[in-house]
Amino acid sequence: MQTIWVLGAGQLGAMLHSAAEAVNLDVRPVDIESDQQLDIQEGDLVTAEREQWPETIATQQLAANPNFVNKAIFGRLADRLTQKQILDDLEIATTPWFPVEQGTKVEDLYSSLGSEVLLKRRTGGYDGRGQHWLKQNNSAEIPEDWRDQAIAEKKIPFEDEVSVVGVRNPAGEKVFYPLSLNLHVNGILMGTLAPVTRVASLQAQGEQMLGKLMDSLDYVGVMAMECFRTGDSLMVNEVAPRVHNSGHWSLTGADISQFEYHLRAVADLSIPEPVVKGPSAMVNLIGTDNVDAWQSVPGAEIFWYNKEVRPGRKVGHINFCSSDLSQLKSSLKDLEKLLPENYVDVINWIIKNLV
Ligand code: AMP
Repeated sequence: MQTIWVLGAGQLGAMLHSAAEAVNLDVRPVDIESDQQLDIQEGDLVTAEREQWPETIATQQLAANPNFVNKAIFGRLADRLTQKQILDDLEIATTPWFPVEQGTKVEDLYSSLGSEVLLKRRTGGYDGRGQHWLKQNNSAEIPEDWRDQAIAEKKIPFEDEVSVVGVRNPAGEKVFYPLSLNLHVNGILMGTLAPVTRVASLQAQGEQMLGKLMDSLDYVGVMAMECFRTGDSLMVNEVAPRVHNSGHWSLTGADISQFEYHLRAVADLSIPEPVVKGPSAMVNLIGTDNVDAWQSVPGAEIFWYNKEVRPGRKVGHINFCSSDLSQLKSSLKDLEKLLPENYVDVINWIIKNLV
């Protein structure tokens, strides 16, 4: 049986592990803090559930392996500066940006990007962390310790946030899920819907953009591209060289989940087109305690990550998939009563967009 080691043992690693059985692979997530000597055999493959990692005994062993798929790509995409340069070189539309260097003045940012500018840490920022807004009319300065460590982006008055999630195999074949529609609150993904009629006309554009990027990097596996939609155009916000939260709906809503696709591609198994079972919704569980009554919501499929609950932390998600939209909406209303108050807007957003 082919063994695939996964750098990282968080929820993405756990979901990759769960997907292994269906494709008869031996998938072994590795905690990056582990100081164990790993029993890596010749012919084993290595993948990652995260795009950056500290140097530890575990990560050094895995990163030294010649069969680490996409190894050279992680660092380039994990740094927003090089990620933006790659997108620009490929002429893939992305949020206008400007490097934040030692000599950069706020005026340079405003004159190039407009009066509202978002600084983003080049590495390490996620779920809205590592962001800093500058507004021309309140004389804000660039924090000194963000120089050479951040990029600046133009504020995009987007109409929608969508994700394109696709997979590419070593032969260069690619398949894509239907675009998903995402709701972020304070930078954290709260809900995802797919497929969505409203953005279906952007499917070819999204596939072309992500396909071009994957091809140019000779990437193998699942990649996710988060985009802003303005009018009929997509603009890349950021790209993740891994399975992604906005693809979690596929665990319930498609015959092949993003986790299975990733393993299939890494192990060079076939990657057939996905069969989407019906309208799907995902509700992210952020900093909420586990509630037994979720189980009794019709159609709710609960994924609990067994992590300590802390404010703002992703601790699970709940999926729904049903062609019966009135049933789906009524289940979401049932769920709303079992979630903290801040979910009222999230559930309403999902229901409003479920058409
Ligand atoms: P990120 O960490 O880059 O994924 O950003 C998290 C969220 O912040 C995004 O999903 C958007 O909701 C918001 N955001 C990020 N970049 C911009 C931007 N340039 N303009 C407006 N909103 C943004």
